[in-house]
This record gives sequence, C-alpha cells and structure tokens, in this order.
Amino acid sequence: MDQWQELEAKYFMRTFSRVPLTFVRGQGAHLWDADGKEYLDFVSGWAVDSLGHCHPAVVKAVQEQVATLIQTSNQYYTVPQVQLAELLVKNSALDRVFFCNSGAEANEGAAKLARRYGEQFLNGAYEIVTTLGSFHGRTLMMVAATGQQRHQQLYAPLPNGFVNVAFNDIDAIRAATTERTCAVMLEPIQGEGGVNVPDAGYLKAVREWCDERGILLILDEIQTGIGRCGSLFAYQQFGIVPDIITLAKGIASGLPIGAFLATERASVFQPGEHGSTFGGNPVMCAAAYATLSYILEQGLVAHAAAMGERLVRGLLALKTKYPVVGEVRGRGLLLAVEFDREIGQDMLDGCLTAGLLVNRVKPNAIRLMPPLNVTPEEVDAGLAILDRVLAETTL
Ligand SMILES: *Cc1c(COP(=O)(O)O)cnc(C)c1O
Repeated sequence: MDQWQELEAKYFMRTFSRVPLTFVRGQGAHLWDADGKEYLDFVSGWAVDSLGHCHPAVVKAVQEQVATLIQTSNQYYTVPQVQLAELLVKNSALDRVFFCNSGAEANEGAAKLARRYGEQFLNGAYEIVTTLGSFHGRTLMMVAATGQQRHQQLYAPLPNGFVNVAFNDIDAIRAATTERTCAVMLEPIQGEGGVNVPDAGYLKAVREWCDERGILLILDEIQTGIGRCGSLFAYQQFGIVPDIITLAKGIASGLPIGAFLATERASVFQPGEHGSTFGGNPVMCAAAYATLSYILEQGLVAHAAAMGERLVRGLLALKTKYPVVGEVRGRGLLLAVEFDREIGQDMLDGCLTAGLLVNRVKPNAIRLMPPLNVTPEEVDAGLAILDRVLAETTL
C-alpha cells in the first residue's frame, strides 16, 4: 500500500472497496500508477472516458473555457450549454434537454418530469415501473427505482412510487401497470446488472404497451448512450423512440455532467418546476460539446462498433480455447464475459498484474468497456493479456 491508500483509509467514509492502485496519469487508453507501471484501461472510468484519458480535444476545450468563464448560474444564458443542447437534440429523436451533474440526478429529473406528465394528462398517475437487476443511481429515490434488494434493504423506508418487475418480460410490465402508472423506466441494456441484453422484441413491445396506455417510456442511457453500444444511442438499435432519455457517463469524456432529453410532448416542465445550480456549467458543457463533436466528426460511433466486433471475435476465440469461458454478451464496446465458475476476481487480479484493467461485474463475469477510440492494436493487446491470464487462472 502506498501513502495515499493509507491516508484514504484514515480520512474517507468506508464506501468504496477500491482496487489497490493509485493512478497519477492517463493518456488515451493508458493509465500510469504511482510506481510508474502502465495499464491498458478497459474500464474507462466506468464507461465514462469516451475519448480515453486527457484527449487533446477535451483538454483544449476545458482549458479555454476554464480561463474564459466558469459559472454564472442558470439565471443567465451561456454559450456552451446552448451549443451542446443543439448538438444533442439534432443528433437524437428528442426535442428538449435539461442539464444536471450526474446520472442519478438525470434520472431524478426524468422521474419528476414523468410525474408532472402524469399529473397533467393521466389523472395524477405517479408510479414508475422499473426492472429487477437495474441500476439507476444512488439517491434515495433512485435506490427505490433500482431493482436490487441489496441496495434497497439498507435504506428503508424507500420513497413511494416505484414498482420493480422482471427484466426482459413484457407481461411483467403489463401486469404491473395500473391507473397509478405514469411511466416505464429501463436501461436498454442493463449495465451494472451484468450487461444484460434483452430479447429482440422486448423494447418494441414495451414501446407499444406504453403507447397503448398513454404512459411514458424513459430509457436510462447513462451507460449505453453516446456511442458506447456502437450506435450514438442504444435505442436506435431496437427500432424505437423513447419519450425521455437520460445521459451522463460518456458525454464529456470524464467531466461530470448529466442530462435528460424529452420529446416535445413529454417536455411539460413549466418555469420554476425544476432546476440546478451547477447543471449546464459552461466548463462541463464545453467538454461535452468537444467530446460529442469529435465523436460525430471522426466517425467514432462506427469505429466503436467495429472495435466491439473485433473484441467479440477475439473473446469467442478464447471461449473455444478455454471451456471456462461461457457467454460473451453486449453491444459495441459494452461487453461482458461470463465464466462457468466464480473467477471474476481472479481474472481481475491476474489482469492487473499483467497490466490490464477490467471490471468484475459479477462474481462469475468481467465487463470490458474500452474508450470509443481504442485502436485495433490495443484491442489485440487486451485480448493477448486475457488469453495469458485465462491460461494461468484456469491451470
Ligand atoms: C452509472 C449509472 C447511473 C448513475 O450515474 P451516477 O453519475 O453515478 O449518478 C444510472 N444509471 C445507469 C444505467 C448507470 O450506469
């Protein structure tokens, strides 16, 4: 343990079970720890660093903005947030945006918007149907939305207004819909829950059900959005248009910003009904604008799709070589590899020693989410390390 880890243990709340590494520098898909050891980063700050670490386009945008104007409050207009709003709206099927600071806050805002919609159009309906195994954030309300007992038990009593039903089960959503329901909220692919991809017809069926009942469909694209799954938004791959989407992780390549977008019909907030002190901060918006413009101009969405296919091909080859490897699943550069036994932690540890960062998403699965601009060489280098570690781990 280095001195920073000892000091952390002394001063921090005990919320994080951290990997014993202290990072001091990053560049592209590479990180360096306090001892100068280099790592290939297939975690990307939890699918956050879309352009890798310290991308020059993001660094330049932040440096320029931070030296020009940092914060004014939302009583006034600032340029970067309007530019970012236009870019997001023009490249999505949604019409209006609200900026906040994190994913949980984006989901809170979306839930509040759905309640306003229910109040105005659905006789005061307020309940939101969400799914088991989902992850929607850490605020008390999002703990209620997140269908995971281990998060919920700790914080009873939870706020009212959420019903958790099985994922990938349209009948469960139908059965849970009542006069009180104003919306269904889902991740198009469950991220923290283990990279769970629903059956082909599921999201379409949910969309049709929401239309039939006149309720809103909220897609939590906080992890799946901004090119991560090989399309700018994951909903595009499922042939549907949601009423509301929430975004955060990948928008600004590492700077904290969240957003939710809604269609015109669902954009029912009136002045004063929602707000944020820091949301839409010019520096975060400049970083997000730089990230998103770069992704669009450089064709990084298609690149991410191609790199995802390359990674999957390599992982399937490993599956042939090592019987311990089970399902390889996900879309684009949001992938999980499942094993037939609980070697997730051993794989993570082995990869660390060999210089590759992966996430242990379940006891028997690891998750891979390299930056969108990862190169073919870096993908192959990651695969070579996984090959070696699999050999050692399953000896
Ligand atoms: C990470 C995540 C969140 C929470 O985002 P925070 O910025 O940590 O609040 C919500 N939903 C999904 C799908 C996520 O992956």
